[in-house]
Amino acid sequence: MEMMRAALFHEHGERDRIRVEPVPIPQPAAGQARIKVHACALNWLDVGIRRGPQFGAVPLPLITGVDVSGVIDALGDGVAGWRVGDAVTFYSLVTCGDCEFCRAGDVTVCPQHRIIGEHMNGGLAEYTIVPARNLIAKPTNLTHIEVAALPVVSMTAWHMLVTVARLQAGESVFIPGAGGGVASMGIQIAKLAGATVIASTSTPAKMERARALGADHVVNYKEPDWVEQVIDYTEGRGVDVAQDLVGAATWADSLRTLKRNGRMVVCGSHSGRSFDLRIPQIYHRQLSILGANGGTFNELRACLELANQGALKPVIDRVLPLSDIREGHRILEERDHFGKVVIAVAEDEPG
Ligand SMILES: [Zn+2]
Repeated sequence: MEMMRAALFHEHGERDRIRVEPVPIPQPAAGQARIKVHACALNWLDVGIRRGPQFGAVPLPLITGVDVSGVIDALGDGVAGWRVGDAVTFYSLVTCGDCEFCRAGDVTVCPQHRIIGEHMNGGLAEYTIVPARNLIAKPTNLTHIEVAALPVVSMTAWHMLVTVARLQAGESVFIPGAGGGVASMGIQIAKLAGATVIASTSTPAKMERARALGADHVVNYKEPDWVEQVIDYTEGRGVDVAQDLVGAATWADSLRTLKRNGRMVVCGSHSGRSFDLRIPQIYHRQLSILGANGGTFNELRACLELANQGALKPVIDRVLPLSDIREGHRILEERDHFGKVVIAVAEDEPG
């Protein structure tokens, strides 16, 4: 049996549970493609799943890794439109296709939805298997490492701001935690939408990077009056939209930045899943709280096209070899990054 190297864990726990081990190279079934992985980016999802199953059980041992760029290496029966040697990335949601939501195109709320790299093995390995219908051609102007830095964060930011929050030209948006992957895409997408962007982060170096991505104003959330600074930048009104990915640590302050009638769009809760919400502030100020869950295939395709044209830039903090996978998890857990941590899996991929 031919073997490959994979980063996996046999049980949930701290990052010392992750091991790089030889496992059998998987074989594609009918309708599936096998990808030789060149690069795979880390997401908070990799950390969350490793610590414990977030929403229902996951198979163990598990190879996580949702954001992949690579080359098709083998095809199962019945796959049309793709050939061995094609450079690809993929859409990571596998949906039922048959429920009322899938039929309406709202695949992000399919009750049956599963994620490649969470409910089935993902891309932190030399080879990975995906349904061929999830494949998308790799943008030709970008490297594998750049492409791997895009899918989840770009489609999630697009889904949150454009589709769910319906951000309009001329509106203002507050984006906390600018160094996060979705936030760094949100800054760029909000600018493309014609909005004024106010971001927050924690150090002068990260503030400079947020400005370089297009943020009009950046505040340092270590300063006690930063919420007032955000409101001052809107001439005292508050922002139209807040895009919160951080969770319990930032919800109360993100709500304070909103104007009356403002809307907060949320996806993610890694700083905590609940906090003490004062209900009157929602109805007195007539705020809307909008949930967003991932993104759609077409949103991903649109983001990749924008990136291929240079309008949306991959934001990469650093590139690590597969053997440094625990260090990658540490960087995310300690928020010691601005943008994506990408694992270069194939040895031929230049750093
Ligand atoms: Zn469905």
